[in-house]
Amino acid sequence: MNPSEIQKIFQTVVKSVRCPHCGKRYSYENVHIVSTADSICFLQLECSGHVPMLATVSISGSLPQEVSVTPISTDDVINSYKKINKTNSIKKLFE
Ligand SMILES: [Zn+2]
Repeated sequence: MNPSEIQKIFQTVVKSVRCPHCGKRYSYENVHIVSTADSICFLQLECSGHVPMLATVSISGSLPQEVSVTPISTDDVINSYKKINKTNSIKKLFE
């Protein structure tokens, strides 16, 4: 994943994802990269006072295709790091 793809992912998330608790959009400074692989990117979205969310964005042809958002705890972030570090193929994560 190259910097321009990551930039597009940020733009997509900032434009299309809102905090499920207050409905506010996330600003760039509240979007943090957790991990990236060839065609998928995990982002942590923070809204002050609300549960952080994990956005999973898959890209295809250098454009973000799918964004799924789930609430996360710190443990989830740590676990996804561990899972990713142990996995060579991103496909294995979804098996
Ligand atoms: Zn919020």
